Amino acid sequence: MLIFVVLKKPTMQLLKGSKLYSIFTGTCPVCHKGKMYMDRNPYKFSQTLKMHDRCSHCGTKFKIEPSFFYGAMYVSYAVGVAISVAIFIIAYFFIGLDRNYTFLAIIGVLAVLLPIIVRVSRNIWINFFMKYDKNKAKA
Ligand SMILES: [Zn+2]
Repeated sequence: MLIFVVLKKPTMQLLKGSKLYSIFTGTCPVCHKGKMYMDRNPYKFSQTLKMHDRCSHCGTKFKIEPSFFYGAMYVSYAVGVAISVAIFIIAYFFIGLDRNYTFLAIIGVLAVLLPIIVRVSRNIWINFFMKYDKNKAKA
């Protein structure tokens, strides 16, 4: 994912074992090894939401109940608002755009980031319910 690309592997290794690692890399929330998504690239729109049923490493079932990921909608609302506020502050106060252009900048950035927001929201949601397990990571 984007942040993963920016921070590069050595930095992400420091986060291993924390929920942030699973959230930013899209890996299994329990072992941090198996991938949750069939395709790493969220911008292949036909693949954005395609997930493995179970973790290839530890066998954790990702969709723990039917419609489990509907709850990620609430998370994506919060993530969207957080990004919008950040874009507003940057565009309006730092760049000095007027209100209309600031509004367009928010819409544009949200549209471009949509696939990432969708995935990060799912990652945050599943991390509410599962936590890292050292033993499962080793096995
Ligand atoms: Zn796993």
